[in-house]
Amino acid sequence: MTDKHIDTRLAHAGTPPLQRGVGPVPVPVVRGSTLRYADMATRFDYARRRAAGEDVASYGIHGFDTHRALEEAVRALEGGVRAFLSPSGLAAITHVFLATLSAGDHALVSDGVYAPLRHTDRTLLKRLGIAVEYFSPAQQNLAALIRPETKLLYLESPSSLLGEVLDLPALSAIAHARGVAVAVDNTWGAGYLHQPLALGADISLQAATKYIGGHADLMQGVVVAGNDHVAAQLVSAQEALGLTVGADEAALALRGIRTLGVRLERHQRNALEVARFLQGRPEVARVYYPALPEDPGHALWKRDFRGANGLLSFALADEDFARATALVDALELFAIGASWGSYESLALLTAPERLAGHSAWAGSRAPLVRLHVGLEDPADLIADLARGFDRAAAGR
Ligand SMILES: *Cc1c(COP(=O)(O)O)cnc(C)c1O
Repeated sequence: MTDKHIDTRLAHAGTPPLQRGVGPVPVPVVRGSTLRYADMATRFDYARRRAAGEDVASYGIHGFDTHRALEEAVRALEGGVRAFLSPSGLAAITHVFLATLSAGDHALVSDGVYAPLRHTDRTLLKRLGIAVEYFSPAQQNLAALIRPETKLLYLESPSSLLGEVLDLPALSAIAHARGVAVAVDNTWGAGYLHQPLALGADISLQAATKYIGGHADLMQGVVVAGNDHVAAQLVSAQEALGLTVGADEAALALRGIRTLGVRLERHQRNALEVARFLQGRPEVARVYYPALPEDPGHALWKRDFRGANGLLSFALADEDFARATALVDALELFAIGASWGSYESLALLTAPERLAGHSAWAGSRAPLVRLHVGLEDPADLIADLARGFDRAAAGR
């Protein structure tokens, strides 16, 4: 199947061979907490294979056929040698940090990163003696920041608030020259639009909660190891942390993966129409969406991405936060919500403290509205936004 195009792989990855000549199209949901073994020799054999690094279940926490099928489908997306499932995207991030870093180690993190990671850093990582330093990826000062104890370069591209696209091959080359592992939060690209492992990263992770799930009914994270060295680190931390997901959640993620390509294509088409509309509005100072030719990340995006998704932000020309709030409140088709990637449209006025550490924001005081453009008809979404601008202006 690896010789086929990505959409073909996603439709078929993980599908088991037929038993007795017949079976359902979807991968069956196999729940379980306990394995039964024919005899002790089989039990010892499975424990030995697991210990030797094989991805087989020797205990319920490793999951069963549904989990293996999902891991295979995630590898069909991202490439790599092994996939790991987590109960949330944030758990996947923590998994990567705890797998690759020890007390005294140092990690460099691009400053547009998913904001809750800063909380993980200030609390858990600090307490464990792991130092995290945020850097501006646009200033290309990475080489000067690498210390002897730097073990991880952690990136998110594009960043989910400002769509800042990073030069992953260049940053990876600098890190690898100094023996530093590279991990990328690939939630924006969903594995479909972007393959960090093919561009130099050692680890790619994403919140499957977002586009893989695609229906706002699933929490899950996935981590993919690009080589055996990081795979062994991730196995060890996974076992120590007891990370697992339920079979029903794995089945939801697997169902989402089957339609990922068609959904993303429509999200991009709708988002481009909405972005063009916003660019034409006098109330909008700037639209942040790398698929726009005017976006500073456009050339890198074109080089390293297959397409774009439904996530875009816009800065308002009017700095008054209350009037920006009125705009978001006036929208009817855009629900107010944070966790994007599903079929429905969302709007959110970004809290200024979430942008404070992001150098691409450069201390601007403009209110920033983030939209997730869903699968509705874009004409209706645009009409909703136009009405919202008018109502906010009229103070209604
Ligand atoms: C949402 C998100 C996460 C966290 O995912 P959860 O499943 O909500 O924990 C991590 N990274 C990025 C870029 C995200 O957008």
